[in-house]
Amino acid sequence: MSPVGLSCYSRWLSRFKTIYSQSTVVSFSSTATTTAPPNENETPLSRPAPPPIRVALTESAGRGVFATRRIGAGDTIHSAKPLVSHPSLAAINTVCYFCLKKIQTFSGSQRQGVSLCCEKCKESSKVFYDVEKRADWLDFDDYCRTEGMKYPLLVKRLACMVISGAAQANIVDILQPASLTQEMILKMEEGFCLLQCAFSKANIRKEHTSFLTKQWYTAVLARIRINAFRIDLAGGVYEDLLSLAAASVEAESAVGNAIYMLPSFYNHDCDPNTHIIWIENADAKLKALHDIEEGSSLLLLEELWLTLLLAPQNHTKGILNS
Ligand SMILES: [Zn+2]
Repeated sequence: MSPVGLSCYSRWLSRFKTIYSQSTVVSFSSTATTTAPPNENETPLSRPAPPPIRVALTESAGRGVFATRRIGAGDTIHSAKPLVSHPSLAAINTVCYFCLKKIQTFSGSQRQGVSLCCEKCKESSKVFYDVEKRADWLDFDDYCRTEGMKYPLLVKRLACMVISGAAQANIVDILQPASLTQEMILKMEEGFCLLQCAFSKANIRKEHTSFLTKQWYTAVLARIRINAFRIDLAGGVYEDLLSLAAASVEAESAVGNAIYMLPSFYNHDCDPNTHIIWIENADAKLKALHDIEEGSSLLLLEELWLTLLLAPQNHTKGILNS
């Protein structure tokens, strides 16, 4: 691991240790909800039970998510809203600019070429979109399109959210960063310059963009690189994992990308017991693939393994496409 990566990781680890002790049962009421059956002692009017999981540090794999009770096959463990999401450029005219829901026949609101599926999404996106629309994104979007990069779009959205006050600049600091080589950092500079240039030409006041340094851009991108999920909508049909994944990889049906807090704490394995799915928008659902015993580590499918297994021709693109 490079010195930069090592120092980032140490910072993340110490922050994580401060927030979550090993024995803490974490309730993610702000970012996660659960449809788990209520405890027998609770009345129907009491709050929904917290997700049957806890986040803990492990000896070998950093942090992990563990079952606090037995979870049955097919049960929804919890759902999670994205911290930041963005449609892929190819899907920008066919999905909601905020929640990534597919828009079949236009029925929502439209603002300068982007569509929003409902009043709620229109309201939720208003603050950051008011910032975004002040700048000209032609060069930045061209850079993403020609270089085949999707993750800088998430950084752009996060930057607009921070400028508008909708998010803190350190919102993704708790996530584990990828270690970056000097070459990767140099390659990110063009994206950073184009982002900074767009805001500067839009006359956004300097005090609102003071967080936007090369270090911030690189640190956010380092976290997005290994924590972003590609959103493939199941469209209400929940079939088996491999057929769904195979169809989406082959059809390049991803509607966008997003990062989450709790789902990012899951470890990955080629023999998973948990599945993350998106039914109609970027709100993720974590489901048990088979019965999971109390205390077991919850594992999501290793995406690299899936990519290699199903579409070896996409491997190189998948690795570089960041
Ligand atoms: Zn929407």
